[in-house]
Amino acid sequence: MNFLYFLVILNILTQSIICKDSNWNYKENGPDKWPKIYPGCSGKQQSPIDLDTSIAQFNNDLRPLIFNNYNQSIRWNITNDGHSIYGKMINPPVTPSISGSNFKEKFNLIQFHFHWGFNPYQGSEHKLDGNKYPLEIHLVHQSNSGKLAVVGFFFRLGVNNQRLRPILEPSRQVIFKNDQMIENFRLTDILPNFETANRNGYFRYMGSLTTPPCTQDITWTVYRQTISISENQLKAFYSNKAETNHRHVQPLNGRKLELSVKL
Ligand SMILES: [Zn+2]
Repeated sequence: MNFLYFLVILNILTQSIICKDSNWNYKENGPDKWPKIYPGCSGKQQSPIDLDTSIAQFNNDLRPLIFNNYNQSIRWNITNDGHSIYGKMINPPVTPSISGSNFKEKFNLIQFHFHWGFNPYQGSEHKLDGNKYPLEIHLVHQSNSGKLAVVGFFFRLGVNNQRLRPILEPSRQVIFKNDQMIENFRLTDILPNFETANRNGYFRYMGSLTTPPCTQDITWTVYRQTISISENQLKAFYSNKAETNHRHVQPLNGRKLELSVKL
């Protein structure tokens, strides 16, 4: 094979890989089109959902969630993957994990990422009693047996929150797809006090990944405790070329929605 011919083939192969990687988005190939390419996205246990307090059932087995090693200083690689910005640990001395609740095993953190919109009145994936929040963080965990458990927190429009600096600075920097930045911080620096959050309670239901391939059998925990962020701080996410990345809420289809506290 001559070299030029080889280059042409290589180019075609690369293009098809790029196309495959970007054949879903939140625009022309948005959430309504995902099921065509990813049948899993039309499953009956999809996420996100409306966390409707009036239908949530109190479950006494939902003990406080324990966040192990979340206070460790970790070196994060913050990357824009074209769909969101996510944080991955670089050689962590210890891996943050979650246990407690009604979990039969421990779940190790694998990454965190965000969902946002184009104004402060939408952007979160889950709704709380019919309302969207401007931003939502997902902390994705996996157990040794391969099960996934995601923890979500809403950000509410409010006062300027200085604690968010470690994530806002990278959000302003990793604007284009594949942009990366290294940042050191503790997850406890940006998340609410866990004791208070557990006291205020969390929702629990079985759902899915909110992006293709929309894999189901994922244990969702979404806290009622929110994190304050100002309109100005939200702009750090709006400068991002992923632009907007929230899926609309999915039908419950008879699933149980539980609460860890009696309201
Ligand atoms: Zn997510």
